[in-house]
Amino acid sequence: MLVGKRLLAIKRYDTAADMYSGIGHYEEAARCFIIAEDFDKARDIVKSIQHTEIANKLRVLVENEQTKLLQQRGNIKGMSKVDKNKAINMIVEEGNWIKALDMAKKAGTLSEILLKYTMKLTEEGNFEQAVKMFSLYGSPTEPSFMSIYKTLCVEVLAECKDLEIYDARIMMKNLIEGIYEKKSKIYKEFERYYTILQLLFLKSLCKGKRLTTLYAKISISLLRYTNEHFMKLVSHVNKKVGLIWLLFFLNRYLDLADAIEDPEGGVAALGDTADFEGTDIPVYDIPLPENNFTSENEREKLKDWVLQVSQDRKVEQNFSFCGCENCGSQMYVASLKCFNCNNGYEPCLITGYPVFRKTQVTCSNCYKLANKEDWNQFLAANSACPWCSSIQSQEY
Ligand SMILES: [Zn+2]
Ligand SMILES: [Zn+2]
Repeated sequence: MLVGKRLLAIKRYDTAADMYSGIGHYEEAARCFIIAEDFDKARDIVKSIQHTEIANKLRVLVENEQTKLLQQRGNIKGMSKVDKNKAINMIVEEGNWIKALDMAKKAGTLSEILLKYTMKLTEEGNFEQAVKMFSLYGSPTEPSFMSIYKTLCVEVLAECKDLEIYDARIMMKNLIEGIYEKKSKIYKEFERYYTILQLLFLKSLCKGKRLTTLYAKISISLLRYTNEHFMKLVSHVNKKVGLIWLLFFLNRYLDLADAIEDPEGGVAALGDTADFEGTDIPVYDIPLPENNFTSENEREKLKDWVLQVSQDRKVEQNFSFCGCENCGSQMYVASLKCFNCNNGYEPCLITGYPVFRKTQVTCSNCYKLANKEDWNQFLAANSACPWCSSIQSQEY
C-alpha cells in the first residue's frame, strides 16, 4: 500500500501501523513497529488480535525479528530480557564462560553450559580448570558427564598436583553423593576414584602438618590402588618413619626403576613377587611409565643408602604383620582382607589401614570408621573430619 510505504519512509510508524490495523492488515501493522525497532508496540498489536491462529503466528514473528536484531547488535542485556538461553549462548560465543555459567545457574540450565565448557576444557587438556569448574558448580549426574569425570580422574591421578587433587576430590564427593543407585557399577568405580583422591588429599594435608607417621601409612595404603604410586612413594616417605617399610619399598622401587631403564632384562627381576603374597598390593600387569622420575645418579645414591642401612642395622626386609581379628593368623598390616579366612576390613578414614574392632572409633557425623590412635593423631593437628568436615574431637 503506497500510503503506508510513504508513512514508513518518513518514519511515521504509529500512523502507518494504525492505518494497517484499521483495515485488518495486522502483519503489516506489526512490521511497522519491527522496522521502528519498537517491539513493545508490535506486541500490543498482537495482543489486540482476536483470531488466535493469526495472533500466535505474529507473536512468533515479532519474537524472531527481535532476537535476530539483538543478536546482530550483540545486545546481550536486551536479549536476556527476551530469551535467557540465547543471551547465555551469546556470552558463550564471546568466551565469557564464568558469566555464562552464573547466568545459566539462575536460569536453571546450568548442566547444559557446564557440559559444553568442561568438554571443551577436557579436549584442550586443561584438566585443572575443568575440575575447578565442577568443584565450584557441582557435579551433575546426567550420563553425558560420566566420560568427562573418568578422563579427569585419570588425568589428575597421573599428575598428582595438589591443587587438582583438592578440586577433583570435591568434584567426586558431590558426584557420588548425587548418584542415586549406590550399587551400580559406575558408582563403585567413582567411589574408588574418590577414595584415592581423598587419600592423596590427606597425604598432602599430613605432610603440611608434619604428621609423618600418618603420612607414611597413607602412602602405603595408596599402593593398594596404584602401582605407579610406588614410583612417587619413595621420594616422599620420611626416612625416619618405618625403616623396614622404607627399605622394602625402596628395593621394590629400584627394581621397577631398573625395569623402566631396561625393559627386557628388568622385567625378569620383577617376576619375583613372593614378598607381596598375602597383601592386597597388585603385582601383575604393571603399566610402567616410559621414563624414570629420578636420575641415575639419584638412584645410585639410594642403592648405596639401602645397602648401608641394611648392613648397619641388620633389618629384615619383609612386611609388618598383625593378627587377623577373625582367625588369628598373621596378615599384612595394611591389607583390607585376611588372605587366610577372607575376612574383610573397613579402611580407616585417616590412613586407609584396616580398622580393628578393638581400636575402632566412629565419626559422629558421617559414621566412617577410624583406628583410634590415627584419629587422635590427626585431630591433634586438625579440628574436623576430613571426609565430612564436621567438627570432631579426640577420643580416649
Ligand atoms: Zn583371618
Ligand atoms: Zn566424618
